[in-house]
Amino acid sequence: MKKTIIIGGGPAGMQTALNLAQRGVEPVIIERENELGGKLRDWHVLFPTFTPASDILTELRRKIREKGIEVHLSTEVESFTAQQVELTDGRTLTCDAVVVATGFALFDARIKEEYGYGIYDKVITSADLERLFNEGQVAKAAGEHPRRIAFLHCVGSRDEKVCQQHCSRVCCVTGVKQAIETKRLFPEADIFNFYMDIRMFGPGYEELYREAQQQYGIHFVRGRISEAAPTHDNRLQIKAEDTLTGRPLRMSVDLLVLLVGMRANDENAAWAVKTGLNRATSGFLQPQDLFLHNVQSGIEGIFYAGAVTAPKTIGETVNEATAAANAVANYLAKA
Ligand code: SF4
Repeated sequence: MKKTIIIGGGPAGMQTALNLAQRGVEPVIIERENELGGKLRDWHVLFPTFTPASDILTELRRKIREKGIEVHLSTEVESFTAQQVELTDGRTLTCDAVVVATGFALFDARIKEEYGYGIYDKVITSADLERLFNEGQVAKAAGEHPRRIAFLHCVGSRDEKVCQQHCSRVCCVTGVKQAIETKRLFPEADIFNFYMDIRMFGPGYEELYREAQQQYGIHFVRGRISEAAPTHDNRLQIKAEDTLTGRPLRMSVDLLVLLVGMRANDENAAWAVKTGLNRATSGFLQPQDLFLHNVQSGIEGIFYAGAVTAPKTIGETVNEATAAANAVANYLAKA
């Protein structure tokens, strides 16, 4: 049986492995963490349906177990070709094809010093908020009876100053979803979303955005926050400009949530050099083309699945994993 090594055990890697097994190819997953799931492990519920992330993960993991798919946890890849994968522990695994499904990294909000992330407790990221939802600890950050909570869009996306020009796509709808979840927790609080543009590209997203405004009374302000500073009563003062009215704005809030962007993984650069893979200017790995070969790397036997090539939703990631598995199976059938 032909063997394919999948680098990365998040949703893309798991779905690719399941589809490959169905197509009669032996999949092997290499995952650097000590469990499967990638960043989905830290997520609470998924837009636009508020489906628990754990439902998706549990289902994927169960199928991986049931199919008896070989998984190497806590294992890191040093380098690879289509025929072999070198691990950092010195082992070499041979294979007939490789799928790179290593996903993305989150922008480090500390780089935008003006917002005070890592300095003020009242400034958290969207990823932190998901963890707090999961732990039932949002009140720990926002206080028991917050009066105002602000979300700031495009932190580390569409920002030339931090070399992240791309739009991360999913953070607008994440901001809407998290604003609704927050309002449900604190019905008395006023929730503000500060945005540059609202990008609601997926099915049900625009409806969710309207629901946020009409049913939950969430305020959307077109403008950027320029800085955040602590107040004497343990709140935060934010300065912004409402770019629709052209007016400067000051506001005290109990929590500022930075919607951090999806950026390219750090190892992409090294792998591009070692393996000859192409990178886009965003740093994400670049597929052969964006139309008929968007899961092919351009190097025979090396394929991509999921957010390693660009920011994607979970649904898009899973669909692309299926496409990647089909492309691998077709390639191996001809090889
Ligand atoms: Fe900014 Fe929205 Fe694009 Fe995210 S999806 S980068 S918040 S415009």
